Amino acid sequence: MSITFESVIGLEIHSQLLTDTKIFCGCRTTFGAAPNTQVCPVCLGLPGALPVLNAGAVELAVRAALALGCSVKSTSVFARKNYFYPDLPKGYQISQYELPLAVDGQVTYESDGQTSTVRIIRVHLEEDAGKSLHEGFPESEAFTYLDFNRSGVPLIEIVTHPDLRTASAAADFFSRLRTILQTIGVNDGNMEEGSLRCDANISIRPSGATELGVKVEIKNINSFRYLQRAIDYEYDRQIRVVREGGVVVQETRLWDTAVGRTVSMRSKEEAHDYRYFPEPDLPPLEVGQEWVEEIRRTLPELPEQRKHRFVDEYGLPESDAGLLTQSGELSNYFEETARASGLPKAASKWVKGEVLHRMKDEGVELSALKVQPVALAALIGLVDTGRVSGSAAKRIFERMSETSETAEIAMAAEGLAQIDDGDTLSAAVKAVIDAQPEAVANYRSGKTGTLGFLVGQVMCETHGKANPKRVNELLRQKLD
Ligand SMILES: [Zn+2]
Repeated sequence: MSITFESVIGLEIHSQLLTDTKIFCGCRTTFGAAPNTQVCPVCLGLPGALPVLNAGAVELAVRAALALGCSVKSTSVFARKNYFYPDLPKGYQISQYELPLAVDGQVTYESDGQTSTVRIIRVHLEEDAGKSLHEGFPESEAFTYLDFNRSGVPLIEIVTHPDLRTASAAADFFSRLRTILQTIGVNDGNMEEGSLRCDANISIRPSGATELGVKVEIKNINSFRYLQRAIDYEYDRQIRVVREGGVVVQETRLWDTAVGRTVSMRSKEEAHDYRYFPEPDLPPLEVGQEWVEEIRRTLPELPEQRKHRFVDEYGLPESDAGLLTQSGELSNYFEETARASGLPKAASKWVKGEVLHRMKDEGVELSALKVQPVALAALIGLVDTGRVSGSAAKRIFERMSETSETAEIAMAAEGLAQIDDGDTLSAAVKAVIDAQPEAVANYRSGKTGTLGFLVGQVMCETHGKANPKRVNELLRQKLD
């Protein structure tokens, strides 16, 4: 009998704060500026330069902490995390260590149609390091170039309890966290530019065990897909090690996107001893509870609240509401369609179905789709008033997605308008009755099931454009 294993996963997420200037100096944080154009003695770590805390960064960090359900501490302390690295000219990073800004939160998220919660241990403030550039410059193969524009950019680090059990749950949770941070205006969610990235701690243990195994840390993952693949890979690797009689060693690994596996970076023996001590150039950070409450009052509706409102206000099943609140854009798209059409359930069906499929097929963001909410609402209206059938509507949607035409124009262009006009339908019904004396006789002798056959004949006659409900009524009128 072989033992089955479960993975135990916790995340440490680094989120850049959307301030215009850096955390301890007045340099800009604009992404993509020419290297080393947004620097000064403070963020270059020149001797004698003194840091001054950016109040805007503190406000955004408090906002995030509140949205993640944390309690904000009235006093927190910045510390020096000492290590040597070429992109860290000071020789230390200013971060919060023993006394972080906020603790004890939780985040609810959807995964596989289930609602789960991850507990947040802490949210703390820190500065980002510079960037080493290994390509794109003359003699890049011989030299590493340094760009200090990112040095001193404000970050929050969000640390979770190891409450996650699968790679897909980890990705779904990370995605929910991104939506929250974007919704509250704290982070731009741009993972490609590195403004949101995470480290994953993963260990395995026999299913049902309560003790934690030895954990491996995977550093700097900047996409949901990589997170999922890295955890899946690591889960398999650790099981293989154990099954082969080995021991999982505590170490830091990197996800190598090129080969699709994790590779060892350093083991515990080589782990840094950061020699933290309180930053002598910054006083303890005092945050008044009144200010915290003031910030709390400015928080917008969060994804979880929005989900519940979709259930209450639009009568959607909770699973649909969960799906539609996966991202702020999707929630907005649905809600605008629901409002413009006045038909929330139909709007939900379309957004969950055709709209998401289309996004996947085209590989584009919602905002790039040619069918936007008002146009979709008009199409939903055509179905609702019986002017097109459900299947015709799907073809019209396809056409609208390619041409940007309105629903009316696409319907006319495809010749899919449902025939509702009494005279045309009457003529078609009469023609079918004349052509099918046997079926008519059967119906009149009490075999009412024949009606379906006759409706089908009329639909055929009208090339599928008749309104089946109207055909049904007309046939009954003429035959009964
Ligand atoms: Zn600076």
